[in-house]
Amino acid sequence: MKRIGVFTSGGDAPGMNAAIRAVVRAGIYYDKEIIGIYRGYEGMIEGDFVPMDVRSVSNILQRGGTILKSARSTEFKTPEGRAKAYEQLKKHNIDGLIGIGGDGSFTGMHHLYKEHGIPYVCLPGTIDNDIPGTDYTIGFDTATNTAVEAIDKIRDTALSHNRLFFIEVMGRDSGYIAINAGIAGGAVSVIIPEEQTSIDELVKKLNEGGKHNKSSSLVIVAEGGKSGSAMEIAQKVKEKSSYFDTKVTILGHLQRGGAPTYFDRVLASKMGVAAVESLDEGKTDVMIGIVNNKMVYNKFEEIMTQPKYVHKDDLRIAKILSI
Ligand code: ADP
Repeated sequence: MKRIGVFTSGGDAPGMNAAIRAVVRAGIYYDKEIIGIYRGYEGMIEGDFVPMDVRSVSNILQRGGTILKSARSTEFKTPEGRAKAYEQLKKHNIDGLIGIGGDGSFTGMHHLYKEHGIPYVCLPGTIDNDIPGTDYTIGFDTATNTAVEAIDKIRDTALSHNRLFFIEVMGRDSGYIAINAGIAGGAVSVIIPEEQTSIDELVKKLNEGGKHNKSSSLVIVAEGGKSGSAMEIAQKVKEKSSYFDTKVTILGHLQRGGAPTYFDRVLASKMGVAAVESLDEGKTDVMIGIVNNKMVYNKFEEIMTQPKYVHKDDLRIAKILSI
């Protein structure tokens, strides 16, 4: 393998730049040419490529976002769109791909490989930590730290006014950010998509807290839950209890930005090097993961059929600590 294309796709995540840097530097170390592909599959279809040298990735390790930009492409979801992308790769003599993205991006690479035989390795890059086959995804640690920082600040104002706050965090269909930020931020309750929450039980718990002189209460709500948004849950709680001065904060996209933590930088760096090495050794149709602090190589079919849920034990711990 001589020319490897690298790209970021789907939702951006802090640490993607560290991963790009690692792929470029490891690629050059192993005598490969590395071609940056702008805007994920959109840029792949259009042939928006740039050769990358060692210095093209200077000073990006510590920056959030992705210098290669990210995009979502509906055209790539069709066989015709993927054929166009393949023609561009062939035209530019790109004979291997390293993509950084979520499960959608992984699925796209898998289809391209099955239809056109282009070898690839995927790196899990998403703040949601919702990809099976890895304990952590690139960006999750930073996003959760950002959420915890915001929760701490909200607690200051909640305490000063004896208020109940509902704080909505990101995570799509996954409660990882919510449960971890909930434990780290001392939430009274965490509402996650993986579990149905009873509003009556939540109100009972909040009332008990009031009786025990709890001077502030924070409820963390994961977006995408069956129980509704933070706004809807707050409204339902208000209707059942006039006891609380209730506020809602939606943290939103601020969780996607910012400098990656040390953890995400190291994770992205290790995965980037492993991606180049494993692709060169002939591994393909795999996503790199980290399990029990060891790099693993997950075949698409082996992991993409399994859902990934938050650890049941984390829910238990959050409950014990919220009395
Ligand atoms: P993420 O990679 O973060 O999960 P998306 O689900 O938006 O983000 O996927 C990113 C891109 O991957 C999509 O815009 C699309 O081009 C491609 N993709 C997603 N799902 C598929 C699919 N089933 N088949 C082919 N390509 C897909």
